Amino acid sequence: MPNKLMVVIPCYNEEEVLPETSRRLTEKMHSLMERGLITEDSKVLLVNDGSKDRTWEIITELHKADPMYEGLTLSRNRGHQNALLAGLMTARGRCDISISMDADLQDDMDAMDKFIEKYQEGCEIVYGVRSKREKDSFFKRETALMFYRLMSGMGVDIVYNHADYRLMSNRALDALSQFTEVNLFLRGLAPMEGFQSDVVYYERSERFAGESKYPFKKMLAFAIDGITSFSVKPLRLITNAGIVVFLVSLLMLLYAFISWIAGTTVTGWTSTLASIWMIGGIQLLSLGVIGEYIGKIYNETKRRPRFIIDRYLNERGDDPVKDYQP
Ligand code: UDP
Ligand code: MG
Repeated sequence: MPNKLMVVIPCYNEEEVLPETSRRLTEKMHSLMERGLITEDSKVLLVNDGSKDRTWEIITELHKADPMYEGLTLSRNRGHQNALLAGLMTARGRCDISISMDADLQDDMDAMDKFIEKYQEGCEIVYGVRSKREKDSFFKRETALMFYRLMSGMGVDIVYNHADYRLMSNRALDALSQFTEVNLFLRGLAPMEGFQSDVVYYERSERFAGESKYPFKKMLAFAIDGITSFSVKPLRLITNAGIVVFLVSLLMLLYAFISWIAGTTVTGWTSTLASIWMIGGIQLLSLGVIGEYIGKIYNETKRRPRFIIDRYLNERGDDPVKDYQP
């Protein structure tokens, strides 16, 4: 039995790639329909994340030309994760399965067949995993690798080399809607749901056009966000560092005492200076880490909406959305 699919694609300033992405998607969707894997009323939901270019106009045109395309526009730029969540929460209850992917054609669409087959075999979540990273630049590849190492080293359960190319069943979306955190890290949330899941390998290609919206700075922020949202290990590391520094300070005390007895107290300027800087450094760093967590608590307690939907273009027409706010 075919299932109703909704492909969810966050788009931020993607005017250069959208025409090609939609051309290939139309082809793919029709081939999936012909193979009987998805229903004829399956949709592609393009989420405009407050783009400053012609992205929303292109989405509107696509919707007019082909009702298979739906458009969602957020009231402003909220970042990849929030835009994706907005799309997924809109898809929830409107489809049997959702597949999230990027707009830039880096995710191989031909993996979608396997995604759906895995779903039919009983998986609620299917992760697309990059088999190679040959086409990424050396810098991007190495920093991305560091990202996964750092994450797993810090005790965050994520699927290695999986970005946000993923199938989630409607049940998995229902479960996702119960996670209300503002600090979103969807890659960590999906494994946390814990349904039956599997991975599908695919080759990730280069961005089709335009430039990456994830420069190194953003990626680093994303990693820190992921770690502090899912693990308290950094706090424990501080405690451990504190214990080590305390033990060292006992030794220093002993050393100072012996030096005093030996009468060589005036020297030792170097060690004093060194320890002041070291302890100061460790303390500042530790305060910073604790601050990260406090900042998170602050953001979570305010419970601000993670996204605000401006309009939803669907078969009912152009909905200025008031009635639902996931
Ligand atoms: N994106 C978004 N909002 C943002 C930044 C990015 O919706 O603020 C989208 C972007 O349009 C793309 C996806 O998120 O579809 C991934 O971004 P990108 O391809 O630039 O990241 P990379 O593949 O370089 O990590
Ligand atoms: Mg990309």
